Amino acid sequence: MISIKGLYKQFGDLEVLKGINIEVEKGKVVVVIGPSGSGKTTMLRCLNVLETPTNGLISIEGQNLDFSHAVSKKNIASFRRLTGMVFQNYNLFPHKTALENVMEGPVIVKNEGKEAARKKAVALLEKVGLGEKQDYYPAQLSGGQQQRVGIARALAMEPEVMLFDEPTSALDPELVGEVLKVMKDLAQEGMTMIVVTHEMRFAREAADEVIFMDQGVIVERNKPEEIFNHPKEERTKKFLNMIQ
Ligand code: ADP
Repeated sequence: MISIKGLYKQFGDLEVLKGINIEVEKGKVVVVIGPSGSGKTTMLRCLNVLETPTNGLISIEGQNLDFSHAVSKKNIASFRRLTGMVFQNYNLFPHKTALENVMEGPVIVKNEGKEAARKKAVALLEKVGLGEKQDYYPAQLSGGQQQRVGIARALAMEPEVMLFDEPTSALDPELVGEVLKVMKDLAQEGMTMIVVTHEMRFAREAADEVIFMDQGVIVERNKPEEIFNHPKEERTKKFLNMIQ
């Protein structure tokens, strides 16, 4: 369903992604782990085309973008709609309520009617446990609640794939669980997900596959029990020893 082939990304002289290949089947959860600076976030942002890859082919549900040549803005816009992105720092609009944040994309980008968008947004906020908070502004919500609004907002665009970029890294420890719970529920409903995270418990419990990245390449990929219990590569072993 998702295919990334030969993905390269360079910032100036710095080559951050050096030929990444990933395939994800529909309904699967892939967790990406690795040291800071290894290119995990950049890989996700390339998939959402928030960064333009230097080269490579990305494909989701039969839509392709081939960065070996120039890609039109129109194709990028249509491709971007296939993915919903959840950011480390929530990226909510501060002057809009939770409900307005969730409605914004469908109304502005997809031209959905306001009433239909509102209904859907209310249902999504209920789904993430925030039915009571729909009229609150981000500043009136805890980090965990804001991130759950972030997830509802991404879901409102009805993406094929959800991309999570360290969604719990900015949270106080006691708020991490409520966000991971929403993510686990989504996974169980069959959402296709790529999750960059340091939450190894989530990786163990929810991932179908774990990918270990280091210095812009994929070093090792396997089922979570294999990666965590029997890592094959030295670099994986070293990383796991450092964090566990
Ligand atoms: P990770 O998510 O694994 O921590 P990142 O993808 O955030 O890694 O970053 C990989 C490398 O790319 C880092 O060295 C980072 O400084 C660099 N980098 C990321 N974004 C940019 C940018 N917009 N401009 C220049 N360098 C960047």
